[in-house]
Amino acid sequence: MPHADELLLVISPHLDDAVFSCGAAVAAAPDSIVCTVFAGVPHDALITGWDAQCGFTNAHQAMRARRAEDAAALDMLGARAIHLGFLDSQYAGDSPATPDEIATALLDVIRATACRALVAPLGLFHSDHDLVHRACRKAWLVDPMLACIAYEDALYRRMDGLVQTRLADLCACGIIATPVSERIDMAMLARHHEAKQRAASCYISQLKAFGPNGYDDVFAPERFWTLQPAHHDR
Ligand SMILES: [Zn+2]
Repeated sequence: MPHADELLLVISPHLDDAVFSCGAAVAAAPDSIVCTVFAGVPHDALITGWDAQCGFTNAHQAMRARRAEDAAALDMLGARAIHLGFLDSQYAGDSPATPDEIATALLDVIRATACRALVAPLGLFHSDHDLVHRACRKAWLVDPMLACIAYEDALYRRMDGLVQTRLADLCACGIIATPVSERIDMAMLARHHEAKQRAASCYISQLKAFGPNGYDDVFAPERFWTLQPAHHDR
């Protein structure tokens, strides 16, 4: 996990990804900030298949409930929530945000919070995750002093070849990815894992849609990669 004594700025595509993918690391770094990109509430009272599966009658209700679940979960981890207003792909339709637009918003958050360690998703499978990954890379490369750690997106990281494909993409773009080695303190890890379990249980509506065995990977060990430019001339 990332250094426990450092204040982390964790970037989450949706309202659950950061806790599902790195909740124990957030618990280990008190006062960290979790910034969720696709937390916007759509104007239209539309209804999607996923929202219906989560038990909602429209998108307004869904996003308001998800924001409240996220705030409760992060409160349990001693972290602070920042919700950006970009629309989830299920609401944005044909006009998704661009990596540049998201990177600009992330740079504002980086400056406002004065964080020195950006924790970004590898951005696997889902178009929203990929967008956030690309935006994080852009924002990171603007500031040469900012450290960047990538987390493996829970659930999607189990899909065939996805982590491998991203690592190959990073390599092709001149970015070195090295696994972050965990400090072996079993008591500490167990304590943070328990905190994560309690926090993850706050996302009641999402868990309902995943089904009872649909999110086992959330409680498997978290994995992180330190990203560095291949040439230290930035
Ligand atoms: Zn997600």
